Amino acid sequence: MQRTLVLLKPDCVQRRLIGDVLSRFESKGLHIVAMKLLQVTPELSKQHYAEHVEKPFYSSLEEFITSAPVVAIALEGLEVIRVVRDMLGATNGLQAAPGTLRGDYSSSRQMNLVHASDSEESANRELDLYFNADEFCDYSLVLTPFMR
Ligand code: ADP
Ligand code: MG
Repeated sequence: MQRTLVLLKPDCVQRRLIGDVLSRFESKGLHIVAMKLLQVTPELSKQHYAEHVEKPFYSSLEEFITSAPVVAIALEGLEVIRVVRDMLGATNGLQAAPGTLRGDYSSSRQMNLVHASDSEESANRELDLYFNADEFCDYSLVLTPFMR
């Protein structure tokens, strides 16, 4: 079992797509173990996007990610890190395949709706940035996707 950090980015919140995106993760049978609405600060942005801070697009990315609240979600499931990355599609919405979240909802390489951790190492680091240990809920789902 793995956990991954998902962010519904400011464009998702502004466009009132929180419900649609959450619904895709729920339909897939992924397990929400923590969730909150928060404002990303410039400091948190620099920690989250540490690998991009020196890149030319970083200042624009920081302006975007701090422009409105985000929804931070911890999802749990088998192979959930890869599964969720596959559900997001390519970074650039113009290149993301139809059927993926970015492919279906985004036409931008920056405003691409959703972030998800790309490895176990980044999942652990990012979950730590957004959640305290006591914010994770330990419960089991009564209805599994296989029972629907
Ligand atoms: P991903 O979110 O798919 O892991 P990256 O880690 O490459 O993509 O980039 C992080 C985020 O930075 C992207 O999701 C996107 O919002 C933004 N971004 C990436 N490349 C660019 C770019 N060339 N111009 C503007 N924003 C970008
Ligand atoms: Mg990335």
